[in-house]
Amino acid sequence: MSDKDKFKKSIDLFRRAAKVIPQGIYGHVTPVFTGPLTSPYYVEKTKGCRYWDVDGNEYIDYMCAYGPMVLGYNNPEVDAAYQAQMKKADISNHPGPIMVELAEYLTKLIPMADWVVFGKNGADMTNHSILIARKHTGKKKIIMVKGAYHGTAPWCSAGHGGVIEEDTMHVHSFTWGRLDEFRALIEKYRGEIAGAIFTPYHHPTYSEQEMPPKGFWDGIRKTCTEEGIVLILDDVRAGFRLDLKGTNHYFGFEPDISCYCKAIANGYPLSAMVGKDFLRVSSASVFYTGSYWYQAGSMAASLATLEILKRDKGVEKIRKMGELLKKGLEEMGQTHDQDVTVTGPAAIPFLTFKGDVSFLRAQLFASEAMKRGIFFHPHHNWFISAAHEKEDIEKTINIANEAFAVVKKTYGEWPQ
Ligand code: PMP
Repeated sequence: MSDKDKFKKSIDLFRRAAKVIPQGIYGHVTPVFTGPLTSPYYVEKTKGCRYWDVDGNEYIDYMCAYGPMVLGYNNPEVDAAYQAQMKKADISNHPGPIMVELAEYLTKLIPMADWVVFGKNGADMTNHSILIARKHTGKKKIIMVKGAYHGTAPWCSAGHGGVIEEDTMHVHSFTWGRLDEFRALIEKYRGEIAGAIFTPYHHPTYSEQEMPPKGFWDGIRKTCTEEGIVLILDDVRAGFRLDLKGTNHYFGFEPDISCYCKAIANGYPLSAMVGKDFLRVSSASVFYTGSYWYQAGSMAASLATLEILKRDKGVEKIRKMGELLKKGLEEMGQTHDQDVTVTGPAAIPFLTFKGDVSFLRAQLFASEAMKRGIFFHPHHNWFISAAHEKEDIEKTINIANEAFAVVKKTYGEWPQ
């Protein structure tokens, strides 16, 4: 069957979509990103670590909805908690008691958290964190890392359509891991810097993932404290996958604010920001709200998700499955004379072919895996869930065997 036939319903739907939705499918789930005509466009059904596209093709999923599915799709306990809350109250004129329960739970779970606020998307939190830092310090400038993603707001989207120079004129960036560059920016803008925002490790798209070099977090923490800069952690992607106490706890440092989303409620829409006591008043001074931000159902789902992760040692299981996958893929790559590396934490792995600057090998590898029922992304880091079992990983490695063979046949050994 040709790829076109395999994805016929997907492509038909996309044709209809293109007439009524700009780009047909926009943002990070665009098929341009996963492989036009060689990857599915629309989903029909999900369960555990698997999903089925509209053409009935089945996949073991290594994207987990780009992160949210930490326990796997349609988790019965989380769904029951959500439904039970929905039967009582969901959206109303007031928050439900679940908002207080969840905030109390998070302040106990996360050592640096003295207070919590909720939103819906990760960017609700990263944007709010910038305002809090500016309100607290009375300063304008923000430091971030080159190539880091914090959402689509203009302040962190230099070069995107519709973003003007003034939107980013107070945001300055440096190379991940380079404390010397960070300190040079501090020297240059001393007395003007409100906050510095970071992901816990570097996970840019179209690139290997980079863990923090030794001493990096100690240096950042020390400098921010000395200079009165609010240290913001964007834990939207990694939060609750590496460590339930926060990815900062995993790396051994304390931010002043931390932003969560993705894995917090196993797919129900919720984000949260936690902060230290000294920022409580500044947080309260920034007007902050949204039509759906007090929705009780997602908060009940979050409480259930975090309790299940804790009860079932979910984080440990995810790490073990990730380690199995990494070992299996790297070994299988070598068997086919491909120099592949799986970078990043085991729970959020990403495979790259050495020297594959155009990502042609990665694209072919992903599309050959997709044909055989494994959803790997060629350009974006992957995610493991607690619903991935050893047998799923073994099946994946067997399929990777076939996909690597096609890459070798097409592009040869590496290096040439
Ligand atoms: N920060 C990071 C590190 C992210 O990965 C994302 C989402 N990919 C965001 C912020 C923005 O989150 P959202 O798309 O939910 O607004």
